[in-house]
Amino acid sequence: MTQGKLPILPTSVVGSHGRPGWLYVFREATATRELGSIDMQEVGDDAVRLAILDQEEAGIDVISDGEMRRTAGYYRGYMERMVNLPFSKKPPLRQVGPFHYDFIRSREVVGPVSAPEGLGIVDEFKFLKAHTKKPLKATCAGPLNFARECVISAHYKSTFDLAYDFAKIINAELKGLAAAGADFIQVDEPSYVHLKEEPGEMAKLFNATVEGVKAKVALHICFGTHAGRPRMSKRTYRQLFPRILDAKADQLVLEFANRQMSEIELWKEFAVDRELGAGVIDVKAYEIETPEDVADRIRKILKYVPAEKLWINPDCGMGNSPRWICVEKFKAMVAGTRIVRRELGFRDQ
Ligand SMILES: [Zn+2]
Repeated sequence: MTQGKLPILPTSVVGSHGRPGWLYVFREATATRELGSIDMQEVGDDAVRLAILDQEEAGIDVISDGEMRRTAGYYRGYMERMVNLPFSKKPPLRQVGPFHYDFIRSREVVGPVSAPEGLGIVDEFKFLKAHTKKPLKATCAGPLNFARECVISAHYKSTFDLAYDFAKIINAELKGLAAAGADFIQVDEPSYVHLKEEPGEMAKLFNATVEGVKAKVALHICFGTHAGRPRMSKRTYRQLFPRILDAKADQLVLEFANRQMSEIELWKEFAVDRELGAGVIDVKAYEIETPEDVADRIRKILKYVPAEKLWINPDCGMGNSPRWICVEKFKAMVAGTRIVRRELGFRDQ
């Protein structure tokens, strides 16, 4: 099914899915015994099949592979496939106490970065495509995500300078995704609200990342959901507008539910002409929204965004949520969207 046949207010996901308990047990096992490539492949395949099933059963219109093969957050594992990027010899800032952003070990840039074999996301997408008939969203972290965690010891002058080489790596991957049939690709850049660079410079970097990619492109900017917590930054998008609109993204995927839908007015204030993938499910909350909660949030958004430009999402990926909560939240998201579709005069789909 192609993107063109979607219902009004299409429902989708931001990327990661709640992981089954056995996947955590399996990962613990890999710490004490070495497993073969077939072991890893089979577990990844099974986890993706479950993510597909959960999303299909919840009734989501455009699904992902749940990012189930990503073992180190949504992007750090891909750094394993890059050259001149070893782990820093310095330990992380903290290793005791609650798990947080200061637990992360930096990478050290010791020369020009590249990924001679690509990131592997194209193969992940091919598996997804072969196992469902649903319309799909492919996801890939953006260059600033990779760059901000690196300590530069050689070759580059600045984080942005380095980010442009990550953009080249990602651009090749996105072109590979489009060639494999991905007609909707999302680039994840939560760093846009954490770093202090001029938003126009971020838009320029984004445009280099997606240049020549023949697919509908979304840009996801959130406030971070590491271990269910936002990163250090004020939770506002205001400073990004209007320059972020220089980004050649067909859709912006933003976090609203966690902030009581604040700043949805930006859409009208800056006469935004893009689609909005609006977060109506709070992924940082344990509480499960009711369909009526979701419908209320969508009604609020519709005061500022035309229905034909609106997609319905969670705020962010669900990888830090228990799987059963993730599934119940998805069901509420779909049921709430259906309420509003009926109110708008569309037959239930
Ligand atoms: Zn996010």
